[in-house]
Amino acid sequence: MPADSALVLFSAGQDSTTCLAWALAHYPRVETVGFAYGQRHDVEMDQRGVVRDALRARFPEWGAKLGADHVLDASVLGQVAEDTALTGDAEIRMQENGLPNTFVPGRNIVFFTLAAATAYRRDLHRLVGGMCETDFSGYPDCRDDTLKALQVTLNLGMAGHFVIDTPLMWRDKADTWQLAAALGGPALIDLIVEHTHTCYRGDRRTRHDWGYGCGTCPACELRAQGYRRFRERSAS
Ligand code: ZN
Repeated sequence: MPADSALVLFSAGQDSTTCLAWALAHYPRVETVGFAYGQRHDVEMDQRGVVRDALRARFPEWGAKLGADHVLDASVLGQVAEDTALTGDAEIRMQENGLPNTFVPGRNIVFFTLAAATAYRRDLHRLVGGMCETDFSGYPDCRDDTLKALQVTLNLGMAGHFVIDTPLMWRDKADTWQLAAALGGPALIDLIVEHTHTCYRGDRRTRHDWGYGCGTCPACELRAQGYRRFRERSAS
């Protein structure tokens, strides 16, 4: 297992695209993995290829390191979490337990487990994910401690030496835009604005200065606020 190879959990969103750029800047061999789990829109799946192609075209030195894309069927999550706002038709709202109903229980645990199994087979060492404890929606499976514990479990359970990398863990959304600027300059910011997709509703009809989205769901609001703070910071 080469210590400098990576598998990026990639959904074509702002965060995972920034993580992919981060991995391409750090490791000579990078592959991506994505999950079809009954998302209520297909935009994520459609944008994956678009973002990967755009990265290759604009950053040829990264393109040379970018290997296979794996898409896994994780639709069983849709079966066990059918009433969540990410997989069903429910409106996005806060639940009594303090978590938004976009929370799919166990999702990141399943994703990392499937990613580790893929990495094992592909001889990849690092698992890179865009989880973040700073701007998170309270999702317990995005917490640093959850992922550190999972790393131990995966290594014990697969007799592996995986390292889970979460470059966004302690960054807010403005910092994430800042990281993209540091990694790939204005070209990467343009690429993220133009091609990545974060909106929970899968709406790509309206182009804002921060990218496409409905503009009102929690994911759009976070992305828009982060972009505004990033631009204010860059201007001062
Ligand atoms: Zn939205």
